[in-house]
Amino acid sequence: MKKAVVLGAGGFIGGQLVSSLKSLGYWVRGVDIKWHEFKKSDADEFIIADLRKRSSVNLVIDETIDEVYQLAADMGGAEYIFSGLNDADIMHNSVMINLNVCEVCSTKNIKKVFYSSSACIYPEHNQLDPDNPNCEESSAYPANPDSEYGWEKIFSERIYQAYNKNKGLNIRIARFHNIFGPYGTWTGGKEKAPAAICRKVAEAEDNGIIELFGDGKQTRSFLYIDECIDGILKLMDSEFIGPVNIGSDEMVTINQLVSYVSEIANKNINIKHIEGPLGVRGRNSDNNLILEKLEWKPKLPLKEGLKSLFNWINGKVHCQCDNDIVCIHHRPDYNYSGIEYFSG
Ligand code: NAD
Repeated sequence: MKKAVVLGAGGFIGGQLVSSLKSLGYWVRGVDIKWHEFKKSDADEFIIADLRKRSSVNLVIDETIDEVYQLAADMGGAEYIFSGLNDADIMHNSVMINLNVCEVCSTKNIKKVFYSSSACIYPEHNQLDPDNPNCEESSAYPANPDSEYGWEKIFSERIYQAYNKNKGLNIRIARFHNIFGPYGTWTGGKEKAPAAICRKVAEAEDNGIIELFGDGKQTRSFLYIDECIDGILKLMDSEFIGPVNIGSDEMVTINQLVSYVSEIANKNINIKHIEGPLGVRGRNSDNNLILEKLEWKPKLPLKEGLKSLFNWINGKVHCQCDNDIVCIHHRPDYNYSGIEYFSG
C-alpha cells in the first residue's frame, strides 16, 4: 500500500485530494495548521502542524512516505492576494513551507513530490488583452507576475527545480487555473470569484443588485475540483515533471459568470460595478502541453460545475439552524475516526 502525505489537507483542494487518494487505496496522512472547515477528513491520520517550522515538517514527513503532495500556502481570492495588504505574510509563509518541504523530502529520499503552483506566475504583459491572453507554459519567462503571490509561486517552482537538479528530488509541478467547487472558502474575504458570486447571488432577492469589482469584462477560466484532482493524479502517474497548466480553457468574462449563476439560481440579478482589486485583464488556461504530455483535458462544462457550487453555498446562506454541531451546513470536522495529533 502506498503512503502519501497531503500538506494543506484542511484546505479546499487538499481536502478533496485526501478523499481521492483514499479511494485509490493509499494510506494518507493529512497535515494542516487547521481542521477542514467544511467536511470530515478521510485521512488515516490528521496532524495539526505549522509547516513554516522545520521541526514540524520533519515530524510529518518520515522515511516511510512514498509521495508528498504540497498544497499548503497562505492564499485567498482577489481581496486577499491583490490588495497588497498581505504581501509580506504571503511571501514569508509560503516560501518557508516550500523550503522546508524540499529540504526534508530530499534528505528523507521521498520518491515523488507534487507542488501546486499557479496561473498567477504568468507575466502581466501577456494578459492585458481579455480576448487573447497568453498562458502557455513557456511564456513564464522573463517573469513579470502581477502579484507577490505570483512571485512567490514562481520562486518556489524554482526551489523545487533546484532540488530536482542538484539533489535528485523527483518533482511534479502543476500550475492551477482557478479551481472551484463545494467545500472551499465561500465567505470572509479569502473566497475566490465563483464562490463570492454564488454567495452574493444566493443572498440577493430576485431583481436584486450585487456588487462586482471592476467592469466585469475581465476574462478567466475555471476548473471544477474533481477535474483538478484527476489532472494531479495523472501528472503524478506520468514521467513528466512539468511545470504544466491544470485548468479549463472555457474562457468567460466575470459578467458572464454572474449570468450563469443567476440562471442557475433562477433570479434576475443586476450588477453594480465598484472599484476593487482585480488581477490581470485576461487569463485562460493553455492546455496544449498537458494534452500532448498526459492526453488530459477537462470534460465538465463550467455551468455544470457551477450548479454544484451554487447549491452548496445556497444551502449555507439559507440555513435556518442555530446549532453548529447538528446542522449539516455548518458542522465542522465531525466524527473523525482516524488518529489526531497536535504537533508542537
Ligand atoms: P486553501 O487555502 O483552501 O488551502 C491551503 C491550506 O494550506 C489551508 O488549509 C491552510 O490552512 C494551509 N496552510 C497555510 N499555511 C499553513 C502552515 N503554515 N502550515 C500548515 N498548513 C498551512 O487553498 P486551495 O484552494 O486548496 O489551494 C491549494 C494550493 O493550490 C495552494 O498552494 C494554492 O496556492 C494553489 N492554487 C490554488 C488555486 C485555486 O484556484 N484554488 C489556483 C492556483 C493555485
